[in-house]
Amino acid sequence: MKILVLNSGSSSIKFQLFDMSDTAVLAGGLVEKIGESTSQLTYRKFKVGTETDKHVFQQPIGDHSEGLSYIAALLLDEEKGAVKSSAEIAAVGHRVVHGGERFSEPTIVTAEVMEELQKLSFLAPLHNPANLQGIEIAAEVFKQATQVAVFDTAFHQTLPEFAYRFAIPKEYYAQHGLRVYGFHGTSHAYVSREAAKFLGIANDQFNAITVHLGNGCSMAAIKDGKSVDVSMGLTPVGGLMMGTRSGDIDPGLLLFLVEHLNMTGQEIDQLLNKESGLKGLAGDNDLRNVMQQYDSGDPEAVLAVTMYVYRIKKFIGAYTAALGRVDAVVFTAGVGENSAAIRSLVCENLEVLGITLDEVRNKEKTSGAHAISASGSNVNVLVVPTDEELEIAMQVRGIIS
Ligand code: ADP
Repeated sequence: MKILVLNSGSSSIKFQLFDMSDTAVLAGGLVEKIGESTSQLTYRKFKVGTETDKHVFQQPIGDHSEGLSYIAALLLDEEKGAVKSSAEIAAVGHRVVHGGERFSEPTIVTAEVMEELQKLSFLAPLHNPANLQGIEIAAEVFKQATQVAVFDTAFHQTLPEFAYRFAIPKEYYAQHGLRVYGFHGTSHAYVSREAAKFLGIANDQFNAITVHLGNGCSMAAIKDGKSVDVSMGLTPVGGLMMGTRSGDIDPGLLLFLVEHLNMTGQEIDQLLNKESGLKGLAGDNDLRNVMQQYDSGDPEAVLAVTMYVYRIKKFIGAYTAALGRVDAVVFTAGVGENSAAIRSLVCENLEVLGITLDEVRNKEKTSGAHAISASGSNVNVLVVPTDEELEIAMQVRGIIS
């Protein structure tokens, strides 16, 4: 069975085609800068996990429909392609950012589901419309395939009410759905399950704190294999400090921006989502560049990294208290998997929580899931590479078979 996974953003489409008999990636790539004159399509083909072919096409791609047509043509191409006919693709799995309270499982897309998803777009106006457009176009391009929506919020639908409610009058929740949803669910689900497997603990007895540090950053508290708390809230701007997002701020700050600086909703959105975080404090959202400045002693970079790390430490403390017993702290995504320096700073002085890092293991370049905690550490500290596309493909397989 072959499953295509699509992640349609506002100006990009990421794709990966899996052969689910062994979950091998057959082909994948990215269409970027859709709607600009500098659009680019990168296409990769794989054989037994090894890249055999890479093509980069630079040409204007006007819209998502055009982008997906190019992807389909490449996947079916006699020479470069990975399938002989589009009928080989049993299903297309779509990453959908917000599933609200309605969707806690991967869902086969019907006209009725599309209607409900459209209604939910107000909860994620920056993401859901592009995700939905991707579904509509894919249903035309891959007519025989079952379209399945997989939600970033779904894994966190197990949060208890005391963790997901805001302390504001009930009607804001009841009438407008204002509550904590949490995001990066496919990543938290995937790495916590892989971590349990790595440690030989049954998933339904596994307690962990998962730390997803990419451009977007979030942490989850996992109890008995289920998400019981998450750092992102109603939207993906809450919680940890991120590449360009502020993370948690005092809500009174928003009132100040409105009342004293006369800022509009759009301006505040731009400020908190695009101009804050590492970028706002150190002038760059790429942690590699910020770490270079940090190493050279640049005071702004030192402050930015110290704040970034301090937030993560505070959440580790909070989630340890929430869970009572922690089997593992699991680092993942671009920063979590690659920055030994950040992992080391986060775990510094956490012996009080039973966390001791082995600095040598931490610096070793090891692929795949691996432990970086010291032998005597009460809590395992792991690095587990995330694979959101594979998780989506597996969830799709689960629902269609
Ligand atoms: P996205 O959220 O877009 O999927 P990624 O998970 O790819 O993001 O993470 C992107 C982040 O990872 C960037 O801030 C980048 O600087 C950081 N990163 C990637 N490699 C390294 C590295 N070797 N050291 C430090 N940071 C890294």
